[in-house]
Formats: sequence, structure tokens, C-alpha cells
Amino acid sequence: MIYGVFSDIHANETALIAVLSSMQKFGVERRVCLGDLVGYGVDVNECVSLTKDNSDVCLVGNHDSVAIRWESSAGFNPYAKKVIEWTQEVISEESATYIKSLPYMFEENDACFVHASPMSPADWIYVTDLEDALDAFDHFSDSFCFVGHTHTPIIVAMKDLAIPKVIEEKKYRIEGSERLLVNVGSVGQPRDRDPRASWCLFDSVEKTVEIIRVEYNIAETQRRMREVGSPDFLVERLGVGR
Ligand code: ZN
Repeated sequence: MIYGVFSDIHANETALIAVLSSMQKFGVERRVCLGDLVGYGVDVNECVSLTKDNSDVCLVGNHDSVAIRWESSAGFNPYAKKVIEWTQEVISEESATYIKSLPYMFEENDACFVHASPMSPADWIYVTDLEDALDAFDHFSDSFCFVGHTHTPIIVAMKDLAIPKVIEEKKYRIEGSERLLVNVGSVGQPRDRDPRASWCLFDSVEKTVEIIRVEYNIAETQRRMREVGSPDFLVERLGVGR
């Protein structure tokens, strides 16, 4: 099965359309969204509806959870907080109902999928270093685990009980008993200083993963953000991917 795994759309419709069309070119058969459909961006209901129509499985993210008032925005930075409060006002009944139906985690074909970390998925733990990765590896038994949340694409491999290592290649095939933790990056809010949208091509038969980057019309997204008065910081960071 050829999977397209994508995450952290953050209400950026132009980036989402570019990623969906890129997946089509790569022959993706099954699309899995790891959550954070909303927050930061302004195309709230457009992105919920596009994701609903174009994903076979979709999980809930922390911004989605705050958008539908499942939890508070207390831990958010001031920019994220301002936008998520605005999102709570503009989100439609239909979008909210869809988000409420989404699970925290999903598993099939020797792979698990979760927004933040397989260690306590609803606590939105950030996996940012090898120690966090080690904790994550302890909480899934599949060969592959796909996450988002940090907006930084990365592939980490662990063989038996050895220390996990970061894979430098964009494309990787697992060897023997090796297992992979893959951060698929962000569709609409990349933060690894590469402003292109990110997603992951996963072949469950060949046992390969590949991080794909896609150019999109960033200026168009920024124009729509300015139109509704988004903070300059949020508008400008899209252009530099940080
Ligand atoms: Zn996010």
C-alpha cells in the first residue's frame, strides 16, 4: 500500500491543495492526516472540508482540540492563542462536528499514526531529541510510527536496543529488525527553515519512507492572512519556514 502521510495543515488551503496534488503524482493510494487542521492560518472551514474529503483516516491535533473547546489555549504562545480564539469564532458547526469525531491514534499494516507522540497521545508531548525519541519507541510495537506536531520533518531509526539514530537521507528503507519514527513535517507551517510544504510517502510493502517537499504560492496564503488581520509575525514566518 502506498500511503501519503501529512500533518499540521494549520488552515493553509494553498499549501494543502499543493500537497494533495503532489500525492496524486506519486500514486498515493491511502491518505492519512495526523491532525492540526486549524490554527495559525485563516482558511479554517476550507481546510477541514478538504481534509475530510481527501483523507482516508484523520486524527485530532492539539490546535483542533482547542478550536472545538475540548481544552483551553492556556499553554499556547500569544500568537497561537490569538488565532485559535479567532478560529473558535469562525469554525462552522459542520467542521466542529467532524473534528469531534476524530481519534487520537490509528494503527494498521505494521504502522501507527499519532499527532504528537505514541506516549500518551492526548498529552501532546513534543519529540524533539533522541531521548524523547527513545521514550516514543517504547510506546509502539510496529515497525513504523508517524508523527507531526513539531513541524520539523525527521526520520529516526532504532535497531533492537541500540541508541536511536537520525537518518540523513530523505528516503530510507528499514533493514531487518529496525524500526522507524518518522516526523512528516508540516503542510501549512513548516519550521525547519525550508518554507516548502512537507509530507511523507510511505510504501508499506517496500518498507520505505520518503520526505517530500512541495512548493506552493506562499504569497497567496500571506495575502489572505493579511486580509483578516493576522499578526505580521505569523504572516512573515511562512516565507522563511521557521
Ligand atoms: Zn501543529
